[in-house]
Amino acid sequence: MLAENLQQVNANIEKACAAVGRAPSEITLVAVSKTKPVSMLQEAYDAGARVFGENKVQEIMDKYDQLPSDIQWHMIGHLQRNKVKYIIDKVAMIHSVDSLRLAQTIEQEAAKKELVMPILLEVNVAEEDTKFGLKVEEVLPLLEQTSSFSHIQVKGLMTIAPFVENPEENREVFRTLKKLSVDISAKNINNVTMSVLSMGMTGDYQVAVQEGSTMVRVGTGIFGERNYATV
Ligand SMILES: *Cc1c(COP(=O)(O)O)cnc(C)c1O
Repeated sequence: MLAENLQQVNANIEKACAAVGRAPSEITLVAVSKTKPVSMLQEAYDAGARVFGENKVQEIMDKYDQLPSDIQWHMIGHLQRNKVKYIIDKVAMIHSVDSLRLAQTIEQEAAKKELVMPILLEVNVAEEDTKFGLKVEEVLPLLEQTSSFSHIQVKGLMTIAPFVENPEENREVFRTLKKLSVDISAKNINNVTMSVLSMGMTGDYQVAVQEGSTMVRVGTGIFGERNYATV
């Protein structure tokens, strides 16, 4: 069942790529496994998934020890500064950096472990009150402040688009993030590349791929509905 879901999502990504002349190899599928038991992650792993997205520090720590070491863990949720130290040497990327203070903490903790952490800046493109993330106009000033940091590398941008019935409603959000990444790229800021655009979830990843996403974060479409009540 889970293997079929994974296949279906990959097929949908290929279709979306074909529609706009992109290569499927440009897209990384992040299997969002939050709230799901280790047994289901193992099942996804056995079906070929190697990149998993989680939004809680504790959950990454628990699952990390129980699953194969060639998994790339991506932190996609809001991150408290005092918890950075627990995951700094466990995750391959942090998608949810939205303040200078958080970037500074990641810089410090990465330095202690002598590693360079790839990060994305989270942008609240639709300016929803309920969501974390920078406003579009706050992105460039933050990049200029972090350009001297040597233990983080800004790889791109991330957004969580609004929850909508029709994914077409989010097309403009994805276009805005893509345009922002192109504008930033052109500025050639030290220590910043815009090679990653993390956008698109179960409801809208095909549209996101059409608009330039390089990383889609799909949970429900792979693992089924989440039941928060039992966690
Ligand atoms: C939960 C979550 C997802 C996956 O959502 P689905 O709609 O289940 O695909 C993607 N990104 C973030 C940041 C999330 O927290």
